[in-house]
Amino acid sequence: MMQDIVFISDLHLDAQRPAINELFLRFADDIAASADKLYILGDFLEVWAGDDSPTGALTPVFEKLAELPERHGTRVMLMHGNRDFMIGEELAARCHFELIDDPFPITLQGHDALLMHGDTLCTDDVEYQAMRKMIRTPQWKQQILEKTLEERIAIAQSYREQSQQSTTAKEEYIMDVNQEETDRVFIDNDVDLIIHGHTHRPAIHRKDIGGRERIRIVLGDWYKAGSYLRINDTTSAFDLKTYR
Ligand code: MN
Repeated sequence: MMQDIVFISDLHLDAQRPAINELFLRFADDIAASADKLYILGDFLEVWAGDDSPTGALTPVFEKLAELPERHGTRVMLMHGNRDFMIGEELAARCHFELIDDPFPITLQGHDALLMHGDTLCTDDVEYQAMRKMIRTPQWKQQILEKTLEERIAIAQSYREQSQQSTTAKEEYIMDVNQEETDRVFIDNDVDLIIHGHTHRPAIHRKDIGGRERIRIVLGDWYKAGSYLRINDTTSAFDLKTYR
């Protein structure tokens, strides 16, 4: 029997959007609690300045994360996104989730698959990729963590404003995956399934690459409603679902 696995990404949970936080709490009880595993593929939080950040309005969300493995036996696996890459092992231990690498290889329904956040596929955005390369090194993280919490919150805030401004200014295609890069990742990793988020363009793409059909599932964001993918014995085809 195969495992019952649920995938979500891009919830961007934040004190400013209490309805979505509530939606996640309900989703956790309703959907995730009966699964064996919940994979969160990045940008679970809109911003995170380090594990010493006050949890504030998100306290029930963190408690719910911890509840999933403790009360329901659902393992929670969390991948960093571009917003919440400062989530560390301390928060993971506190909330009982496991931090996983990006990309993360798994086997699913006989498919060799790769889980990703998706930002590394958006190579047309040269400026973003250069910044990502810099800020995702252990050295940079260490330097940032040596600053006070107040300083880190201010840095996160200005990074967010910059990113919002440049996102509005950039051409639409730049914010999507680059097709050649995506093909390369399929071939180099020898996988026929990739599941990712980040682009906020939910879809199931099927494409012949290198003589094999490859499937790319893009999870949706949690702005107007929730979005998830569930894979188990009873799901014969991949099906992206909306959660309200
Ligand atoms: Mn993202």
